Amino acid sequence: MNIRHFVLLGLLGATSISQPAIAQPVGEVLARHSAGGLDIHHINTGEGSAAFFVFPDGTTMLIDCGHLLDAPRPPKYKSPPLPDDSRPPGEWVSRYIQKYHPKGEEGSLDYVVFSHFHGDHIGGLPELAKQVKIRHVLDRGWPDYQKPTPFTGEEAERYHAALKAQTAEHGTQVHRFKAGVDDQIVLLNEPSLYPEFKIQNLAANGEIWTGSGTEVRQRSAAHEAPNENACSIAMRLTLGRFDYFSGGDLPGIPGGEISNNMPLIKARAKQPEWRDMESPLAWVTGPVDVLLLNHHGGTDTTNAFFLSVLQPRVSIAQTWASRQMPPQVLERLRSEIIYPGPRDIFTTNGMWDGRKEHLIQEFGEETALPHIQNLQNITASQGHIVIRVAPGGDRYAVYVLDDSEESFRIRAVHDGYESR
Ligand SMILES: [Zn+2]
Repeated sequence: MNIRHFVLLGLLGATSISQPAIAQPVGEVLARHSAGGLDIHHINTGEGSAAFFVFPDGTTMLIDCGHLLDAPRPPKYKSPPLPDDSRPPGEWVSRYIQKYHPKGEEGSLDYVVFSHFHGDHIGGLPELAKQVKIRHVLDRGWPDYQKPTPFTGEEAERYHAALKAQTAEHGTQVHRFKAGVDDQIVLLNEPSLYPEFKIQNLAANGEIWTGSGTEVRQRSAAHEAPNENACSIAMRLTLGRFDYFSGGDLPGIPGGEISNNMPLIKARAKQPEWRDMESPLAWVTGPVDVLLLNHHGGTDTTNAFFLSVLQPRVSIAQTWASRQMPPQVLERLRSEIIYPGPRDIFTTNGMWDGRKEHLIQEFGEETALPHIQNLQNITASQGHIVIRVAPGGDRYAVYVLDDSEESFRIRAVHDGYESR
């Protein structure tokens, strides 16, 4: 209830000093993980998704490592590379991991999960694999990478070559992520100390957990293979009362949304309803404390039903494109008609140079101007977003770290969240 927001510029005097601070203050370098806690670092390279987890016993996991290679983008459409373009994103992510791994630079990644096979989720693997040892890789395609949607082409060749090199050098094991089970990603060091920790696999390859045992159901119609985004891996991570959802680029609104300012989408034919993956996932996920928005908070996601069931206290979008978290998505996230109560919204990338002009061009002034205002009024809109859950899972804080250089300094801290 009593969330204390500390921000760098101007507001320091407004914070309550009488309350005991459990969080670190603005300006300090964020400390490493402490035993029993859970850290989730949403690392911002401007190139897509990468989330580094340190579990209570020091087991580590990375979900995705994006690098948008050669896809052509309109000018100002994409966020700039961060901290800068002197290293590829997979290398920045590796250096971040080496800083916050409980074992430091020598630490290996126990699990790397690739939500699905798009560059903004897997493109950084070759550079990552050069710097960090990986024990287990979980993806949706192993062993043959054919079903239900084949993974082929240049991107696939880079991916397989990097995995092959890791396997040869470090004995990495690759597994197919299995929806419905809760024992595929587990604590590897001291599991008996933390029985309140669990990862429930929710979805992969269009299959969704039913909530009963390990049973799954294929969401797609028999005559249609789900597309790459709909094949995304989803999971719910639990520490005591704390719950976190991650679902790659899963769609929730088939075909995006109709808007007069989006003629491309308007022109599309009506889409079958089964392409909505969020709604059937909602009931088996239940309420969460922190929601990582699907598809970077894209236009085809975050439907009202999904939000009304998950009711996130904190939402995070790992954005990299101008129209990620578009007006309709932000309106739903802010709407107390969809679900009541306070909520905070974070994005990894805010108003880069040229984004305003791009948004006006995209949506028209009437829609874009209030939207730009709303985007600037979210809780925090630029940096690495770190969720630090206290041992036991009852409380957590959200840190925003400087992403303009490798300072790992705290730009803002939002403290005092109580898990539900
Ligand atoms: Zn993506």
